[in-house]
Amino acid sequence: MGKDRWRFDTQVIHGAQAPDQWQSATQAPIYQTASHRFDTAEELSDVFAGKKAGFIYQRLRNPTNQVLEKRLSLLEGGLDAVVTGSGMAAITDALLAICRAGDEIVSGNSLFMSTFLLFNNVFRKFGVDVKLVESADLAAWAAAVTKKTKLLFVETIGNPKMDVPSIAKLADLAHAHDAPLVVDNTLATPYLFRPFEAGADIVVHSTTKYLNGHGSAVGGVVIDSGRFTWPEGKYPDFKLFKERKGNLAYIDKVWREIHINFGTSQAPLHSYLTLIGLDTLALRMERHMSNAIKVAEFLSRHPKVKWVGFPGLPSSPSHATARAQFQGKGYGALLTFGLESERACFDFIRNVKLAYHLANLGDCKTLVIHPWSSQYISFTEESRRANGITPDLVRVSVGIEAVEDIIEDFDQALKAS
Ligand SMILES: *Cc1c(COP(=O)(O)O)cnc(C)c1O
Repeated sequence: MGKDRWRFDTQVIHGAQAPDQWQSATQAPIYQTASHRFDTAEELSDVFAGKKAGFIYQRLRNPTNQVLEKRLSLLEGGLDAVVTGSGMAAITDALLAICRAGDEIVSGNSLFMSTFLLFNNVFRKFGVDVKLVESADLAAWAAAVTKKTKLLFVETIGNPKMDVPSIAKLADLAHAHDAPLVVDNTLATPYLFRPFEAGADIVVHSTTKYLNGHGSAVGGVVIDSGRFTWPEGKYPDFKLFKERKGNLAYIDKVWREIHINFGTSQAPLHSYLTLIGLDTLALRMERHMSNAIKVAEFLSRHPKVKWVGFPGLPSSPSHATARAQFQGKGYGALLTFGLESERACFDFIRNVKLAYHLANLGDCKTLVIHPWSSQYISFTEESRRANGITPDLVRVSVGIEAVEDIIEDFDQALKAS
């Protein structure tokens, strides 16, 4: 059976490897160099002119980063990718390559904290208006789209609202208006769900989370399906890129226009660490997701727990959409739950012994946080509530430890709260 026929769980380890170029090393080497040397002026000129492939300078491209780009692109079923210094850098690169002052974006309102601030505070300042709509309310999306809408943006699983929109329906809506759908697939990973198969056009990730899996490096990626055609009337800026690169026009524009000039590049060590983590993505996700279901069920039966937010529970308003979209494979591994009061949440966090209390998710370790008093502290009370954050909410990133130990830890911490 040929390489191109390998299943996901095999490709995640062996896909897009080039050991023959690496002195037979089995791990991609860390090309820790700012620059690459050339013998002749002719050669460097050809690489700059794009007539010849080659590496020039780390902010432009790096061989270690390129291995991660090819691997992630393969796993998502995309055409090509650009890795970035963080998930936020990926979102910035992905959207600035499409929008200019006067344009509009329609986005689900269930957003990662920094994405929300980027849209509301930064993009608006530069004349790009972001309209936020209820992620799972298709009619609200349809009502918000105008002729000026240059893209639709959504998270596969909203954090921390735990809502799951239908990517296929949003892709149809976007395409009916000649606009691309950009999906932040961080919480699902391509193991659980591949947005391109549902019609999305561009995928972004914070690789910091499940793709890395060990909390060892911050990073991001923009992946292009190569399918959106960027009609000229609506996207005049794409003309040159289309002439030069055909269906790679978008990723070339991301790279050439934004990535290089904003300096959003990834350190090669971080790509190396993410590649090591990626080897076990399939195994980790399987355990993350089966643990999450068991923890959600435990919490939903616990007398001290008022409510649980997890798309895997039949009580979730997103359960039916999530079950169909993820084909029963799982529901991710992030969940939220409510206690009596903010005080009870603080007590719970002080009393957990196994779980780490920190601001991150997708680590193989179980993590807990009280978003209201931490990540969202600078938000107005109104926008915290609009983001699904309430004072009684604890967020859990369920790890891959023995699930009995996670449950016992939570049980003793709840008793003490
Ligand atoms: C963490 C996260 C980001 C931002 O990624 P960084 O690597 O922290 O910059 C974006 N989207 C989602 C859904 C995230 O969880």
